[in-house]
Amino acid sequence: MSDDGKDLKPETRITHAGRREEWTGRVVNTPVWRASTHLYTSEAERKAANKSNADGDFFYGRRGAPTQWSLAEALTEIEPGAHGTVLYPSGVAAIAGALLTVLKPGDALLVTDNAYDPSRAMATGLLKRLGITHHFFDPLDIAAFGDLVASTCPRAVWLENPGSLTMEVCDIPALSAIAKEAGAVSLIDNTWASALGFPALERGCDIVMQSLSKHVGGHSDLMMGSVSAGERWYRALRRTSQELGQVVSPDDAALAARGLRTMAVRLERSTASAIEIATWLKEQPQIARVMCPMLPGDAGHALWSRDFTGGCGLFSFVLSSDDPEASAHVVDNLSLFGIGYSWGGYESLALPIFPHQHRATMGAPTLTDNDKPQAAIRLSIGLEDPGDLIEDLRYALEKLDH
Ligand SMILES: *Cc1c(COP(=O)(O)O)cnc(C)c1O
Repeated sequence: MSDDGKDLKPETRITHAGRREEWTGRVVNTPVWRASTHLYTSEAERKAANKSNADGDFFYGRRGAPTQWSLAEALTEIEPGAHGTVLYPSGVAAIAGALLTVLKPGDALLVTDNAYDPSRAMATGLLKRLGITHHFFDPLDIAAFGDLVASTCPRAVWLENPGSLTMEVCDIPALSAIAKEAGAVSLIDNTWASALGFPALERGCDIVMQSLSKHVGGHSDLMMGSVSAGERWYRALRRTSQELGQVVSPDDAALAARGLRTMAVRLERSTASAIEIATWLKEQPQIARVMCPMLPGDAGHALWSRDFTGGCGLFSFVLSSDDPEASAHVVDNLSLFGIGYSWGGYESLALPIFPHQHRATMGAPTLTDNDKPQAAIRLSIGLEDPGDLIEDLRYALEKLDH
């Protein structure tokens, strides 16, 4: 798209992004270009492509073909401040690709204590085996973060906002400014908000990762991840990804691109429904606390209102019951919510969660008044009628009383 396009609203850009005529021909969407071998018209052309390794050069299937390039370009166009995007076969592969690009043996990494569990496991497993040290930090304690940065001289800081499961919103501009001052690279898992809800690079991060399996796919039928960055880091990310042989299938790229076109309207609907359902849940006697930064009165609401441009359908709540099995009883009595991992699909999901098992520095759920293990549930609100979902929740919660 021309530079003039930068002023267009995200909903408009998401419609046009990545649809180059040389890739689409006369049809609307970039077709599925299934390819390992790319054919050259001459040996001179082959040699030139081998040397240039530029984006969009036909070369060999491991560097993708127009279906993958089109999706990557579309993601870049909706990510303010990004020069390019690298695709990975899953969100976790994207986390690995980003961290392995930035870190080398001997480096220190700081990880937000409410990070997605496989991100924590990356630090305590793979990266540790490579001789990279890590420290978890409480993202809500900026002074302690400053002290930790000063004492550990990290190469990189891994952020996520809001945090997985417990949904705390942290001050990304403040944290990334401290990291930058100390020469550390800020990376963020922006899966919850996507580029539409949180322009991470504009808020101070250097590298932004998303699981496309969630909102972008949107239909619970594909696994993919992406990492976007400004020019310097994009080049480094692409190189590491090529070294690791990371590639996504054109069929999955076409599905992800299809999901992307409707993402804004799906997010708008699931955000509105989530706010309606969370507001209702907050008033129910069986609920101790709702963890949903989109809700006025939530501890994270002020920062969410300041820094985010949108939300999504994912939030959690804590039951007041002392019975650790209470969350299992509730989800077993729901009929419109599936029990399953992932989120961001058109269908609603409910998952018992145990955040106290995944924290080093923070009480958990951190926003509750005490830190005893509690029965908590994470909901991913889909596109169903919110009133129907509320009636389903009412039935399952009332069952707890009997
Ligand atoms: C699901 C998820 C991931 C990992 O994505 P996959 O595509 O499932 O590998 C990373 N971060 C967050 C916050 C997630 O919810």
